[in-house]
Amino acid sequence: MNELIELTAAAAAQRVRAREIDPAELFEAYRARAAADDLNAFTWVAPRAPAGEYPGDAPLAGVPLAVKDLFCTEGVPSQAGSRILEGYRPPYTATVVANLQRAGAPLLGKTNQDEFAMGSSNENSAYGPVLNPWDRARVPGGSPGGSAAAVAAGLAPWAIGTDTGGSIRQPAALCGIVGLKPTYGACSRFGMIAFASSLDQAGPLTRDVTDAALLLAHMVGRDRRDSTSLEFPEAIRVPRAEDLSGIRLGVPEELTGAGGGVEPGVRESFEATLARAEGLGASVEPCRLPHAPHALSAYYLIAPAEASANLARFDGVRYGLREDGEAGLVSMYSQTRSHGFGAEVKRRIMLGTYALSSGYYDAYYGTAQKVRTKIAEDFRTAFERFDFIVTPTSPWTAFALGAKTDDPLAMYLNDFCTVPMPLAGIPAISIPSGLSDGLPVGFQLAGPAFSENRLLDAAHALERAIGFDGSPARRSGESAARG
Ligand code: GLN
Repeated sequence: MNELIELTAAAAAQRVRAREIDPAELFEAYRARAAADDLNAFTWVAPRAPAGEYPGDAPLAGVPLAVKDLFCTEGVPSQAGSRILEGYRPPYTATVVANLQRAGAPLLGKTNQDEFAMGSSNENSAYGPVLNPWDRARVPGGSPGGSAAAVAAGLAPWAIGTDTGGSIRQPAALCGIVGLKPTYGACSRFGMIAFASSLDQAGPLTRDVTDAALLLAHMVGRDRRDSTSLEFPEAIRVPRAEDLSGIRLGVPEELTGAGGGVEPGVRESFEATLARAEGLGASVEPCRLPHAPHALSAYYLIAPAEASANLARFDGVRYGLREDGEAGLVSMYSQTRSHGFGAEVKRRIMLGTYALSSGYYDAYYGTAQKVRTKIAEDFRTAFERFDFIVTPTSPWTAFALGAKTDDPLAMYLNDFCTVPMPLAGIPAISIPSGLSDGLPVGFQLAGPAFSENRLLDAAHALERAIGFDGSPARRSGESAARG
């Protein structure tokens, strides 16, 4: 395999900075692999390396970046996995992407995703499913399945995605990479095509924890174009911790017990990781999150409610698809929306509109908001005794393509362990903890708001002790490059 591909993004950046690697050659090595992608991970690949200055002195040193399709990128297709935005090329770039470009990470390509980020398997994309490089008969997770598969297969050194109910962490877990969902407000949402605005957060999907820290450091910050964004209270540091002495880990029975339906192989890997954490000096004790089992129900009211409002703008007038334009306004709206949106998006719009309708508003949306508050309180109480709450990221490993497409409730259960954190607005990271039957398992750590530096440190110490080897998936990506 091309030795450039074996370098982590941080290592590649360092070698570019030392003038040992030519950034144009690095870009081209990845561009060739991304262009030969046979996982359907990319929906657009840059035709050539960006012209311009030698980026060796920029903090990200020219290491190319894969970007989930729902981030607006000026002049480049930004379709959010939807037919209704087919061919849409925005006139501006999302703040997070612009920040990363300014820091020296040029755009390598746009990655496939579930339509409007609704899904856990990437099977809801209008541009077809993405294959998992560990086993091409299986899903990569979702919604940014393309970003996760591209990083795992070595088609991109690193990528960004968005997490509304688990979408960075769950595909990271299923593809054997690292995924971090930051504190709500840490990254600007400007230019991110919205799903559920009170939950959506951008974050890194990377090969290791150090790469996640490096990328996140240039994503965070207040943006006057997103009034919910905040100044991150400290600089994001490169994690260096090698042990967990003094760290108290809480294991919530509500998410890890029998109710979560955790597969035996996932449980085994989770318990082995807890034992490793103890070996590194952490204490591990049970903790309580009494309302966490209701997080999924609250999420599947709040997220569709916000989605139904956000998606009202796709009406055939302003962006993308327009059908039946001559037949009158109402017919044009309904033809455009019925042909432009896929089945899952329609399901969410109907659920959300119903939950917000007068007469039902208090009973559904109002109750869900109260549950959300209780969930946030549970975490606050737990963090009085614990530094981090830990769970398996997903109850199971990557499942077969098609296995859950006919059963939306089974699909929604993917997010059982990842949904409580965005409801509480707190950060969480997933790191690979090993393999079960040859498929990666994810271990999740969640911390209080703005604890990203501590989270990254703890994840870094654990990552070193686990020593996960992601190279089999990159070799699978190699066949793509030859293909
Ligand atoms: N799988 C969840 C959903 O379908 C979460 C998706 C996300 O975080 N964007 O809504």
